[in-house]
Amino acid sequence: MDVGDSPEETAFRATARSWLLAHGTSHGTRVDTGALSDHVRNALAWQRTLYEHGWAGISWPKAFGGRGEPGVHSTIFNEEMAGVDETLGPLTVALGMVAPTLMRHGTPEQQTHLASMLRGEQLWAQLFSEPGAGSDLAALATRAERDGDEWVINGQKVWTSLGQFADYGILLARTDVNAPKHEGITYFIVDMTAPGIEVRPLVQMTGHAHFNEVFLTDVRIPHASVVGEVNEGWKTARTTLTSERASIAGGGAGWSVEELIEAARIKGVADHPIIRQELAQAHIRAVTLKTLGYRVRTAMSAGSMPGPEALVMKLAYARHWTASTDTAMSILGAEGLLVDETGPDERDHGKRQSLRAVWPQVFLNQYAIRMGGGTDEVQQNIIGELGLGLPREPSTDRGVPWKDLPK
Ligand SMILES: Cc1cc2nc3c(=O)[nH]c(=O)nc-3n(C[C@H](O)[C@H](O)[C@H](O)COP(=O)(O)OP(=O)(O)OC[C@H]3O[C@@H](n4cnc5c(N)ncnc54)[C@H](O)[C@@H]3O)c2cc1C
Repeated sequence: MDVGDSPEETAFRATARSWLLAHGTSHGTRVDTGALSDHVRNALAWQRTLYEHGWAGISWPKAFGGRGEPGVHSTIFNEEMAGVDETLGPLTVALGMVAPTLMRHGTPEQQTHLASMLRGEQLWAQLFSEPGAGSDLAALATRAERDGDEWVINGQKVWTSLGQFADYGILLARTDVNAPKHEGITYFIVDMTAPGIEVRPLVQMTGHAHFNEVFLTDVRIPHASVVGEVNEGWKTARTTLTSERASIAGGGAGWSVEELIEAARIKGVADHPIIRQELAQAHIRAVTLKTLGYRVRTAMSAGSMPGPEALVMKLAYARHWTASTDTAMSILGAEGLLVDETGPDERDHGKRQSLRAVWPQVFLNQYAIRMGGGTDEVQQNIIGELGLGLPREPSTDRGVPWKDLPK
């Protein structure tokens, strides 16, 4: 395993860092507590800046407007981006999930969206999950029926991140109820402004409405918006879901163990024997994750697919987040229950204020990491089957037509 940058990667990192420091902003606190619409607007504006300066689509093929460089360059650029306040988080669905799917399965017409994504002109949402289809996504019940050159969609989606701002969505709908559940699904692109789409924001415990319910009533989609083949949407969706897991594990956390240690110092508990143990454990986990990341990068640098280390990354990252933010709450004590909306505290130059502004949000956000893109439990099933070669989970619905399954 190569735990450092090659000379060529070192040079790339230096160029990326100096450009980012010259063009990004840095205020020290990266957790967004402001209005969600600003967060979305800032991400699109940052993507436009990247595009104008030639930093967009670093590892995208040149044929799609990218720079055609190795994947490891994107990883390095993302690592360096953690040093500035800018984030592309709201564009994860577009850049991290839709783009790889359209590159692989899209028609040339559908692939014209890629250039708009690179220029920061489009926000995309993922309309996969439903009230009765989350971990068991293939159980989805939203229907699409063919009407000439169009499809008519009826159903309900839920958990649709940033759907209230999205220009386009990727949608899975059932097109053959007589086929087993994985075989009667089709993958569509949907214009989120189409008549019949109603987006209702859901406020979660962080106070933000990141998610939405989306109701689809007689929504008409042109046949040209089918991605891949009719009834073979599961194949297309697998590309999206694999890309989603990689995006989540590789995303910036917005906090670090160093900041956790600093919080312990500010609160005067850095000498507490239990807190010290927990901080040491957090440091060990962070180093282990970084080393796992190097393994993945080494495989990517060599042009091969990463192995089981990539499967365990998301789960290990989620566990690190959970344990470390438990420690943060022990450090903050009762103060961890407060969300600071007042100005900085003069006596400690704003540090105490920023503890309250950051850690309670980071603590509550652990559930996003533990559930989004597949829950911890489902991730363990995947590791068991693909990583350890254990037998598949028993299933009672294999080969049974979807219409005959208990709902
Ligand atoms: C931050 C975040 C963003 C999201 N964004 C989107 C989005 O933009 N678009 C979208 O379509 N979806 C989105 N989701 C939905 C996400 O994909 C689902 O939450 C996830 O797949 C779990 O589904 P569920 O919530 O229906 O839980 P369920 O599937 O109902 O699971 C309930 C519980 O049962 C457990 N469980 C289920 N099956 C098994 C099993 N086979 N073995 C062991 N345990 C099991 C689960 O681990 C969980 O604890 C988002 C979720 C989060 C948290």
